[in-house]
Amino acid sequence: MLLQEILEYNDQFVEDKEYLPYEGTKFPKKRMIVVTCMDARLIELLPKALNIHNGDAKVIKTAGGTITHAFGSIMRSIVTAVYELNAEEIYIIGHHNCGMSQSNPEGTLQKIMDRGVATPEILSSLEYAGIDLHKWLFGFTNVVDSIKGNIDLVRNHPLIPKEVAVHGLVIAPDTGKLDLIVNGYEQLTGHDKH
Ligand SMILES: [Zn+2]
Repeated sequence: MLLQEILEYNDQFVEDKEYLPYEGTKFPKKRMIVVTCMDARLIELLPKALNIHNGDAKVIKTAGGTITHAFGSIMRSIVTAVYELNAEEIYIIGHHNCGMSQSNPEGTLQKIMDRGVATPEILSSLEYAGIDLHKWLFGFTNVVDSIKGNIDLVRNHPLIPKEVAVHGLVIAPDTGKLDLIVNGYEQLTGHDKH
């Protein structure tokens, strides 16, 4: 059982004080926020490829690294990190070969019905209630466009200060290579911070 395995490992981890190299504070040392995908290949690769260590950054993960709502939980995290945790720049990092670029809302809804979780009637009543399940489950077709859309949303957000740089990058999930899409410093008007 995975849970049992995790709990046993954890007992040993704490007992052996393996946490000692990871001590830090809640304030990110590099004053940065990373918004990226939940992809399992990025768990260790992304921080290593960016030279981010424990205590360096606030990292927000979600399917596709997509900010789907201006007042949803991702923006809430960003606003909190900027005002309460001294974050000064934001890195929106998509990746090649993302599951959300091949998202198939129709197929997901079919699986929900196949598993007997919801009937077609329940799904249509949700649609009638104004919940667009297809839109909700849809990811994106192009990772670069998705990142640019996220950057526009953050930069134009009424609660985000104009001096916060918002960068866009794409990471390769096999090599960790970063491609720069948007250099946020260049978008800052009246600031030549760097
Ligand atoms: Zn992904």
